[in-house]
Amino acid sequence: MGHHLNADAEDGRRALDIPTIGLFALVTSSGLIGVPLFGYVYGYTKLDWALAGVLYLISGLGITVGYHRMISHRSFRCPDWVTVAFLVAGSWAMENSVLKWSANHARRHARVDQEEDPYNATKGFWHSHCVWFFTKNPHRTERCAPWLRQDRIVMWQHRWYVPLLLSGLALPFLVGYAYNGWRAVWVASCWPVPGGSFWC
Ligand SMILES: [Zn+2]
Repeated sequence: MGHHLNADAEDGRRALDIPTIGLFALVTSSGLIGVPLFGYVYGYTKLDWALAGVLYLISGLGITVGYHRMISHRSFRCPDWVTVAFLVAGSWAMENSVLKWSANHARRHARVDQEEDPYNATKGFWHSHCVWFFTKNPHRTERCAPWLRQDRIVMWQHRWYVPLLLSGLALPFLVGYAYNGWRAVWVASCWPVPGGSFWC
């Protein structure tokens, strides 16, 4: 038995991350089933399309500009309120706190396409796109980016990540509710289908 476990570990097999798989399945299936169903039953208003487009853009910029270029690579500096705005926008993309995201990204750049790279491209398109976050990673990510913990805005966003994420769902709900009543709940629950902006 012990021998088999060791062999599995050497094969690089990893335990499944059930909460992440559950959340991904819930959000993706509610998007794939709920969006066409709602369109069929009620139809969409211009406000619905505008909210979906604007929030897609904002949360995408939160990841690509905020999480990636600004925090992970320190490509530019900006006033604190701009940093906060980008990190709030990034939290709406449901891709974890910037502390975890950027530590993973630092590990990728330190070990590109090796075993420790979380989105190792040699394991194939689907692994590097999204399958990597369905398994628990045995490597200690925190070591990769100690500087992140010295950044008070990064730590603030990490601490408040869940309420910030929920604010991204509450915002379109409140706008939709004000405009269109309770039907808005579907739209609010369907827009954040995880995209996967994990490229360098
Ligand atoms: Zn990068």
